[in-house]
Amino acid sequence: METAIRHSVIIPVFNEEAVVNETYRRLTKVMESIGEPYELLFINDGSRDRTAEIIETITVEDNHVKLLNFSRNFGHQIAITAGMDYALGDTIIIIDADLQDPPELIPQMVEKWKEGYEVIYAKRIKRKGESLFKKWSAALFYRTLRASTEVNIPVDTGDFRLMDRKVCEAMRSIREKNRFVRGLVSWVGFRQTAIEYVRDERFAGETKYPLKKMIRLSMNGILSFSYKPLKLAMYLGFLISFASFVALVVTLYLKLFTANTIPGWTSIMDCLLLLNGITLTILGILGEYVGRIYDETKNRPLYILRSQKNVHQPQVSEGER
Ligand code: UDP
Ligand code: MG
Repeated sequence: METAIRHSVIIPVFNEEAVVNETYRRLTKVMESIGEPYELLFINDGSRDRTAEIIETITVEDNHVKLLNFSRNFGHQIAITAGMDYALGDTIIIIDADLQDPPELIPQMVEKWKEGYEVIYAKRIKRKGESLFKKWSAALFYRTLRASTEVNIPVDTGDFRLMDRKVCEAMRSIREKNRFVRGLVSWVGFRQTAIEYVRDERFAGETKYPLKKMIRLSMNGILSFSYKPLKLAMYLGFLISFASFVALVVTLYLKLFTANTIPGWTSIMDCLLLLNGITLTILGILGEYVGRIYDETKNRPLYILRSQKNVHQPQVSEGER
């Protein structure tokens, strides 16, 4: 039997052929410097480039390196989840493949873990090489999320973090479909602390988070941790009803007590458009929640594997997944 693994590093990869070799090199250097048994668990999220082949080649030479191949692109958050299902370490470290999260922070996280913290997350105090739009939209998202939920989700914090095995076990018991992993980590509790860092530029390649995926992630963050949008819809409804009532009184007064009735259709059209707009918005919000309920009731597995390399002990049974 191999020696018990102390640290598991989970690296989701999607079309990262331009970076994986360098990521492997830097992670290995850092993990070797810690001097405790470790594994590098790559989750290939349905890459269409040479990512899988490159990692497979590495798995042959270095049995620290393990690979799970998804049958298609299931998404970053699901890839992380699969990593947690298969990781064997006492600590589980989640890191992006593109080296925007510097691996050199890991020893610091491990130090904190040895002090007794169970979740050590990395908070970005600065982001390099990202567009103004990304910085601005991210800042807005984290603050909206924070204002809309009771769960204490830290701002400006991605998925780069170290978790104790206990936390990972707790996370694994949550099988919800539209996952926002960093929110769930806050939700499970435990002793959490932050370390701060400057987020680097991507080492190579382009972002694998186009606007569409970013919107989906932020919707999942807000909708699965808050009912506030529903409440907002209700308040808006109240407000409009009240305004309509006032308008009703005014028009009746004009009709009955003045000669000054307005023949125009403008006001009617305005009301119609406004009310329809609001009704549709509210329906849309309801629809988002109903869709999520639908996803849960289908009860499909979160992901399907095509193949695996060096991964000997699946941590979950088919049914559990
Ligand atoms: N990723 C993934 N599946 C996806 C999209 C992204 O596994 O569908 C991985 C990607 O390979 C990277 C991490 O998630 O390791 C973060 O993606 P990226 O760096 O492109 O996001 P950004 O930093 O631009 O927000
Ligand atoms: Mg990135």
